[in-house]
Amino acid sequence: MAADTHAQGLTGRRNLAVRAAVEQGLVGGADGAEPLVCLLDVAGIRACAAALTAAFAAAVPAGTPVLHAFAVKAAPLVPVLRLLADAGLGCEVAGAGELALARAAGVEPRHIVLDSPAKTAAELREALALGIALNADNRQELERLDALVGPGAGALPHGPLGVRINPQTGAGAIDALSTATQTSKFGIALRDPGAREWLVRAFADRPWLTRLHIHSGSQGVPLPLIAQGVRDLHALAEEINGAVGRRQVDTLDIGGGLPVDFTSDEQTPTYAQYVEALREAVPALFDGSYGLVTEFGRSLLAKHGLVLARVEYTKTTGGRPIALTHAGVQLATRTVYAPASWPVRILPYDAQGAPKSGAPTAQDVAGPACFAGDLLATARDLPPLHPGDLIGVPDTGAYFFTAHYGYNSLPRPAVHGFTVGTGGEVRFAQVRPAQSLAQIVAEAGAARRDALL
Ligand SMILES: *Cc1c(COP(=O)(O)O)cnc(C)c1O
Repeated sequence: MAADTHAQGLTGRRNLAVRAAVEQGLVGGADGAEPLVCLLDVAGIRACAAALTAAFAAAVPAGTPVLHAFAVKAAPLVPVLRLLADAGLGCEVAGAGELALARAAGVEPRHIVLDSPAKTAAELREALALGIALNADNRQELERLDALVGPGAGALPHGPLGVRINPQTGAGAIDALSTATQTSKFGIALRDPGAREWLVRAFADRPWLTRLHIHSGSQGVPLPLIAQGVRDLHALAEEINGAVGRRQVDTLDIGGGLPVDFTSDEQTPTYAQYVEALREAVPALFDGSYGLVTEFGRSLLAKHGLVLARVEYTKTTGGRPIALTHAGVQLATRTVYAPASWPVRILPYDAQGAPKSGAPTAQDVAGPACFAGDLLATARDLPPLHPGDLIGVPDTGAYFFTAHYGYNSLPRPAVHGFTVGTGGEVRFAQVRPAQSLAQIVAEAGAARRDALL
């Protein structure tokens, strides 16, 4: 599918969904009952999963094992994990909570990968017992595994085990999301003195280690830097296999991190472009001698999520026009705290859900939270907004409303998936209900009201 066709489809479906969300009462209304809703474009997610699968399938010889494990932290919603599983994807999890979600979605253990820099002994034991794959982060974790699966431990049955390395190839545009820096907290640093030799020995001593893992970072890491890390990973696997004289490392887990374009409806770079960049940097990666695991999160979901929020009031203060909306820090936490790194688009709609036109004027778009910095956009050129209008915040399917921040006891908004029929009719399916006031009160310890008296 050509990129522009993709964008038109996405844009068209979105506009139909916004209007339908108003007509079907998911958002809007004069009484203020439904100020905020989050939508997921099911067809978009399916197309994206299919594009990922196709890009890799076209690159490897038939029969090469390839697992695409969705990074659950990007959208920890059981129906989403189920949808992706239905499209043939697995899950990458970083702890007991995400593992429980993957299992609730019916994802098979052989399609689950556990990564985390701080796995507890109990988590390791559970992962081994389930037979899911796991990647050790550090030397001490390897020693824990020795005690669980080493010869002295009676060699318990287990799934594939690997080691995460940090290629120390450098940072991308966003420091907080760069995991391959000289001093990153993740993995075993490959370029530290003696590290390579230590890793080769660690594998030689542990015939049960069969995988190498890398994840060079998320949004902001450029493709050539990701590809360079994968090249280092592949070279290390070849070195280990050469040293032990057999193909002990049989699978390379190359992580996720494909960036997303937050400035348009285009899906760039594409998975096909990513595969091409890898093929140029590491031609042997796709020759079928290694199975592959990927761990994409943001690039699978981001473009297919939309926040719709009502403009409650508008005002001008000290010459500054401000629209006060219901979308703020609770669902765009990174944008609010690090606006330069996480700009979002604001799409204006009228109260009926029709795209709004009008001469653009610079306006600030604020959220509902009680601190001055709760802003989604500043001095943004938009048609003048009025109370009752809606703003759409696109590209929010990953790490936005799926990573709720409980400031001001703002409730988690409802999430609905949508599909558009051939006649343009929109069907919604609730993915997650809005958090109720009763739930907020209960989670705040209401049952222990007198605990501190
Ligand atoms: C967060 C993470 C991912 C997913 O990153 P995206 O940028 O969302 O693709 C993959 N692997 C690991 C180990 C991660 O921590």
